[in-house]
Amino acid sequence: MDFIPFLFRLMYFIQAIPHNLIPVNIYFTNILLILVLYMKSTFSKLIVSIELITLMGLAALTWYQSHNSSSLLSLLDHSAARQPAASRNTESSDSGRADFIKWVDFNVTSEAMNDAYQYDLKSHDTDTPIDWVSLLAVMGVKYGGDFKNYKSSDMSEVADKILNKESTLEEITKDMKYFDYYNEAYQAVLGGFVGEYTILPNSSAQTNPDITTKENEGAAKTAYGLKAFSPIAKGFPYTDYDDFGTSRSFGFRRQHLGHDMMGQIGTPIIAVESGYVECLGWNRYGGWRIGIRSFDQKRYYYYAHLRQNFPYNKSLKEGSVVTAGDVIGYMGHTGYSDKENVNNIDIIHLHFGMQLIFDESQKDGNGEIWISCYELTRFLSQNRCEAVKDEATKEWHRIQDLIDPAVENYKKISNKNKITKQE
Ligand SMILES: [Zn+2]
Repeated sequence: MDFIPFLFRLMYFIQAIPHNLIPVNIYFTNILLILVLYMKSTFSKLIVSIELITLMGLAALTWYQSHNSSSLLSLLDHSAARQPAASRNTESSDSGRADFIKWVDFNVTSEAMNDAYQYDLKSHDTDTPIDWVSLLAVMGVKYGGDFKNYKSSDMSEVADKILNKESTLEEITKDMKYFDYYNEAYQAVLGGFVGEYTILPNSSAQTNPDITTKENEGAAKTAYGLKAFSPIAKGFPYTDYDDFGTSRSFGFRRQHLGHDMMGQIGTPIIAVESGYVECLGWNRYGGWRIGIRSFDQKRYYYYAHLRQNFPYNKSLKEGSVVTAGDVIGYMGHTGYSDKENVNNIDIIHLHFGMQLIFDESQKDGNGEIWISCYELTRFLSQNRCEAVKDEATKEWHRIQDLIDPAVENYKKISNKNKITKQE
């Protein structure tokens, strides 16, 4: 009996299992089938047959798992958007919450986001305020999550009814079976984007002669509106296109779960939303990368391929708190290497990703939900943060400081926790 090929196949099994290589498994199954048919020794036939059955079982199991838990492969499966109820998990998880969303296709266009945001702004100080995310959720129900055929008139029809006090959001949505799903899903994506914030008097004005002292005058101002930023600093050019889900080949076959923004080395990378640094360091795919979690823990922002030698703002470490608009790092092309600090990406770009987490079990593994960020970054391009370079440290800093109440809240809570731990 040929022992070496058997060992080879055993090794293949072991490394194929965690990667869910279904197409390769099917290919390998065919080879084994031919072996069984043409082999003379009954013993070899028996061994190969056992392997064949195991492999077919594994393929069936991985197919079942990926189908059941909406793994990366079900990006191809758009039925989740049309039947959102089916994408809720009914099994209970570690955290105890039984009914959480397990799949989201975020197909809202920047045009729709803009329209909804304008209604929110316009109605904010009236007695019929419209929450832009809820308004988008109503549209989500109407289009089954697919905004390809979005028309501004569809949204104004709903918004005007509320503004003219002909109807309320509750009345409009009470018979919409999937409103709660779309509302929760879109809140998870956009929940930290709009709100109150305070603009501080210009702090960089003393160190930067380019800024007139006029802008530095006056007290802190509180405003309401978009407080999330484009990940690319103001004045730095970039190009991009809709690239979510296209296939990538480094390592093993997988899909592109983010959005690439091509620009120049050293372009300051901006924190889109306030949050805390959950991971910072080298990853074989992402190179130097930063992962920032929103305070409500529903969003995980992923900024990858940062600059060789000087990837991050030097003050950052895991656990650091950042405010939306802060410079967190610099564009580069590191990654695709097991060795640290290597430029192995051909095109200089930022890989920007957003993961949704409804239940902590979805953070890593088969249940991960990554959404398309192309339309999001288009929407955010109206709010780009201006930064200035400190020649002494070579570090870039924002010009306009901002106080996000979400940051203040988080600091208050974590201080309270620290005190109770000490007691
Ligand atoms: Zn990318």
